Amino acid sequence: MIITLDQTVPDATRTAIADAAALLGSGYRELVWDDGARVVAIDGDLAVTIADLPGVTGLFDKHKAYMLASTIARARSTVQVGNAVIGSAQPTIMAGPCVVEDRETLIATAFAAQAAGATILRGGAFKPRTSPYAFQGHGELGLQHLAAARDATGMPVVTEVMEPDQVDLVATYADMLQIGSRNMQNYPLLRAVGKRNVPVLLKRGYAATVEEWLMAAEYILAQGNPNVVLCERGIRAFDPAFRFTLDLNAVPMARELTHLPIIVDPSHGTGKRSLVGPMALAGIAAGADGLIIEIHPDPDTALCDAAQTITPAQLAVITAQANAIAQIRQPETALLPVG
Ligand code: PEP
Ligand code: MN
Repeated sequence: MIITLDQTVPDATRTAIADAAALLGSGYRELVWDDGARVVAIDGDLAVTIADLPGVTGLFDKHKAYMLASTIARARSTVQVGNAVIGSAQPTIMAGPCVVEDRETLIATAFAAQAAGATILRGGAFKPRTSPYAFQGHGELGLQHLAAARDATGMPVVTEVMEPDQVDLVATYADMLQIGSRNMQNYPLLRAVGKRNVPVLLKRGYAATVEEWLMAAEYILAQGNPNVVLCERGIRAFDPAFRFTLDLNAVPMARELTHLPIIVDPSHGTGKRSLVGPMALAGIAAGADGLIIEIHPDPDTALCDAAQTITPAQLAVITAQANAIAQIRQPETALLPVG
């Protein structure tokens, strides 16, 4: 169940809830959102007398699988990454190469991304390659290049962390930690990023249901980190014409179920350069709070994912059109039931 608390809740109330939760064999998980709102998630139903304690503003006994991520815990949330905000009216554009290459190319790409309207720089230093023989990324050197690009442009950076033991290192350099599709259900990793207050970009597993994705987000929230952004990046379907199939059903579906910001990755979601623009715009029309797109100054020579990588000039067109679509879409995309 979810218990909402006001900001001045006395410690005695917390202790009473924790004691009652312990009787149920559940932990006491209190999450403080950036705006100061507080919720406690308990695995089980406590006695209703909790409702009368000072500081308790609500009790809800639904959505046991992902209570903190659900719209019962709060209506909408925003996540701040450096000077960028995800979840506001304006779509947030994250862009950069699939993999960080040399420092000069990365810095040039970062300036080009910024000029094209991106506010967060992406780039992989530790890469989850499907083949163990493929280029695995430059590791810490890549992180240093990302930090140099941030220093040069002022853009915060998002990069992937693949192992719990790497979280400290990656968090030293990154403004946002990316959990890749292949790691969406790596629970030790989810717990490790949940123990820090750093923003997390949680990509949907390419064979995961929306509910499994929200439960993965719950692992992070349940450790006390409220800064989670979801990313729909395509699921495995039957047609080899596409690397993955961007599941845009998932965007308004997740929007109904969770308050967390949701972005769309049309690069991995299609695998094909010519489809990135149309599916990026479709994602914004479906209600996404932003996009993450792979760009490179010379896409054909990109060391990773060249086939789905576009130019900064192409990104600029997408950004302008995405902003225009965001202005005309409904603030809440769900239509009222008819009749
Ligand atoms: C990436 O963004 O570079 C990446 C590897 O994505 P995914 O985990 O979605 O495949
Ligand atoms: Mn990639």
